[in-house]
Amino acid sequence: MAELIDGKRISREIKDELKEQVAALKEEGKEIGMAVIQVGNDPASSVYVGNKKKACAYIGIRSESYELPEETSQEELLALIGKLNADPKIHGILVQLPVPAHIDEEAVIKAIDPAKDVDGFHPQSVGALSIGQKGFVSCTPAGIIQLLKRSGIEIEGKECVVIGRSNIVGKPMALLLLRENGTVTVAHSRTKNLKEVCRRADILVVAVGKPKMVDASYVKEGAVVIDVGIHRNADNKLCGDVDFESVEPVASAITPVPGGVGPMTIAMLMYNCVQAALM
Ligand code: NAD
Repeated sequence: MAELIDGKRISREIKDELKEQVAALKEEGKEIGMAVIQVGNDPASSVYVGNKKKACAYIGIRSESYELPEETSQEELLALIGKLNADPKIHGILVQLPVPAHIDEEAVIKAIDPAKDVDGFHPQSVGALSIGQKGFVSCTPAGIIQLLKRSGIEIEGKECVVIGRSNIVGKPMALLLLRENGTVTVAHSRTKNLKEVCRRADILVVAVGKPKMVDASYVKEGAVVIDVGIHRNADNKLCGDVDFESVEPVASAITPVPGGVGPMTIAMLMYNCVQAALM
């Protein structure tokens, strides 16, 4: 039976550490501020934004919320970002993605001051990660590194396979595992002999966006399996990219869905915001 990697517990641990750190900063007279911008009212985005504001309140970060109408122009959004870039009371700026189709997402990401880029999506942040310099790291992969470290799972020298090469999960995940001295393979939709490649992994990170695609036939006995996927099945229950029932008996440790990677993303966003204030 695999050990369950408990993302709920580990994310709470991180948030409690941050809460203490924020309280100490407050005593020195420093208050941390984060701006959360949502354009339009996509229901899933509203849930994410609500959870981010709740996490800010828990930790003691002051959040400023900008709920802009769907028809907001790109110029108006960029003007708001410019204003927040110049505001010394704001340390982190988050634009909830996706933005409506008439707004260029890349232009929005680039407009955020890299010093306030708490999502870690700015090309400067991504470049810094790839050459081992300091900068903000995309929250989901950063959270996965914390899950591994805080569960006592060693990365150095291990065969790590990441399935998926998206800019927000797969690629930064591969770079972070490399930074931790893992031997990293990135697999994707054009990879040949995917199962064979995956069965080499001591640590398998699955971010394919396909419900329950990875079953036991992809997993080496004793491997650590991290499931990034989030989907709702026909009965409205959450599931991941990994077929948990099939993989759990083979793996040595595995993240559940829900309660694995999911809660870590917001914890690391809070971590990035506190780091932004310390810079
Ligand atoms: P994406 O769709 O941008 O990328 C998926 C990647 O998987 C692509 O690079 C593609 O090459 C690869 N892929 C697709 N089909 C494949 C196949 N059959 N074989 C091998 N590779 C294949 O997705 P993403 O944004 O990286 O997200 C991945 C999953 O993680 C989604 O389920 C998403 O909902 C979830 N997610 C969760 C969190 C979280 O906080 N837990 C955060 C971000 C994304």
